[in-house]
Amino acid sequence: MIHIKNAEEIELMRISARIVSRTLALVAEHIDEGVTPLKLDKLAHDYIRDQGAVPGFLGFGGFPNSLCISVNEAVVHGIPGDRPLQEGDIVSVDCGAVKNGFFGDHAYTFAVGTPAPETEKLLRVTKESLYLGIAQMHVGNRIGDIGYAVQAHAEKHGYGVVRELVGHGLGKDMHEDPQVPNYGKRGRGKKIREGMVLAIEPMINLGTREILMLDDDWTIVTADRKPSAHFEHDVAVVNGKPEILSTFDLVEEVLEKRGMNPMKMSLNDFVPA
Ligand code: MG
Ligand code: MG
Repeated sequence: MIHIKNAEEIELMRISARIVSRTLALVAEHIDEGVTPLKLDKLAHDYIRDQGAVPGFLGFGGFPNSLCISVNEAVVHGIPGDRPLQEGDIVSVDCGAVKNGFFGDHAYTFAVGTPAPETEKLLRVTKESLYLGIAQMHVGNRIGDIGYAVQAHAEKHGYGVVRELVGHGLGKDMHEDPQVPNYGKRGRGKKIREGMVLAIEPMINLGTREILMLDDDWTIVTADRKPSAHFEHDVAVVNGKPEILSTFDLVEEVLEKRGMNPMKMSLNDFVPA
């Protein structure tokens, strides 16, 4: 069942999404060679608590931490560990926070130092595919239009689009209906409706789309162990159009200040004319 949100609920969801956005910006300040994922997790956990919110992932299905940190070949659901990050790593940081009973859930993939050109391109194309998917999220379209846009862009560059894990409705539960696959056919699937809130989250692999689960029963990795990227936004349908409740602006500002490539993008650049 799809839970449609009213204007008041969407404002509460924006608050939750922005707590996650600020948490990701804090991660952006600290991510570096030599830093451990566990340290980033602790910073995020304390920050979310300081906001009067509850870490959305901690204990969710038994997950042991507040962030999912997925390095290089890890796609998603990585458990923060104590192996220090290295120059050239790419790190998907996925974060959840609950405030006023509503979940925020969004993610950014960071590069540590200077990524290899092929890895940097993977990050850019994955972020573009996120916005291309969001641009389809208007009344009159269907869920399949989102997946089609993500898939077409990623596959044009020869990348693998993960099928087994999908975006989702978001609200009082982290995973609400409908599922939002990152692949699909135009004009297929459920209708996009006013007041829907969806977490759109392409998971795009440099090589094969095939994935495996590690023995920790959480971490998803690419079957060929090539890198994977993941970006996620929380998006509401307002006045028939997509309105992004989360923001990458804060992360991008930090990256820019640190002299790292912020890959700035705006939804407006991707809305079809
Ligand atoms: Mg997420
Ligand atoms: Mg999600």
